[in-house]
Amino acid sequence: MDVTKNQPTEQNSNPNVILASVEKFLNIARGNSFWPVTFGLACCAIEMMAAGGGRYDLARFGYEVFRPSPRQADLMIVAGTVTNKMAPLLKRIYDQMPEPKYVIAMGSCAISGGPFVDSYNVVRGVDQIIPVDVYVPGCPPRPEALIYGMLQLKEKLKNPKLARMKNNG
Ligand code: SF4
Repeated sequence: MDVTKNQPTEQNSNPNVILASVEKFLNIARGNSFWPVTFGLACCAIEMMAAGGGRYDLARFGYEVFRPSPRQADLMIVAGTVTNKMAPLLKRIYDQMPEPKYVIAMGSCAISGGPFVDSYNVVRGVDQIIPVDVYVPGCPPRPEALIYGMLQLKEKLKNPKLARMKNNG
């Protein structure tokens, strides 16, 4: 038996009380209940949809509530090729999402233009338009990779140093 368990520490004299900032608690809640906006651009979006299906079951993590309105969403998964024509619309949807909001760039097209990087009509990375929190590489990434990316975002929210990096960036 571990006798040190539940022993009072210097910072916390009562083992039954946990002290933390409200922001920390809110970020734990946010990291366990992302509401992604229903939004897909190309082939990667099929993998994103598969992640929400019964086989991969995003609901295990509390992330299955895809919202049809950006005003009810806190996560944008950019899944697919971002064309110059689509870029202003993507930016408008992002702007309509309330703060705090997060972005995952899913697939090489969203990260850098992917196989269309030399094309005249493709944006070379969605981070040229909106800030990105997590990059999920692949062409396309599998649903497991997207789920891993979402869990990395959750870890990022729990780490104030990483969150600060985004705010300063
Ligand atoms: S990264 Fe590959 S799979 Fe994803 S949208 Fe681009 S071409 Fe399609």
